[in-house]
Formats: sequence, structure tokens, C-alpha cells
Amino acid sequence: MAITELTCREFVELITDYLEGALIPVEAARVASHLGSCRPCTLYLDQMQRTIAAADRSTKSSDSLVRPNELLQRVKDLAAVNRDDDTERDEA
Ligand SMILES: [Zn+2]
Repeated sequence: MAITELTCREFVELITDYLEGALIPVEAARVASHLGSCRPCTLYLDQMQRTIAAADRSTKSSDSLVRPNELLQRVKDLAAVNRDDDTERDEA
């Protein structure tokens, strides 16, 4: 099966799984390939990783300010903001 080019929108949808290491290899390869050719998405990924690293540091230094699941949800919310569909989220 050939690797098809990822769109930026698909990239945003896959990025959280990519950062979690939850993508199947074929999808991870598509993400990596997109990163090789799309500077905005490279910057976006960089920003995500810095957000996660910062939260990770605060988690380690001050116990349980940010739990991993909350962080992931936050990242997913960020990703959702970058999608232009109007899927309603069920906020508690
Ligand atoms: Zn892109």
C-alpha cells in the first residue's frame, strides 16, 4: 500500500497520537513525511512538544498540577481549535 500525502488538516488530527506514539507505522511515516515538506506543521509540532515539555517539567517539580490525561485533553483541544469543522464538544 502506497503512502499517500497527508494534508495539514489530517496532520493536526494525527499529531496527538503521533506524540503519544500511538500511530501505526504507516501513519507515523505519513506524519514524518508531511513534516519533511511542510514548515507550518513542523513549527506546530515544535510548539506542541514545547507545551508538553513545559507541562511535564511542572508535573515533575510540583507533583500533580497537570496529569498526563489532562495534558493530552488540552493538546487535543488545541488541535480541535485548528480544525474548521464545527463538531460540538461536550464540556462538563
Ligand atoms: Zn502541513
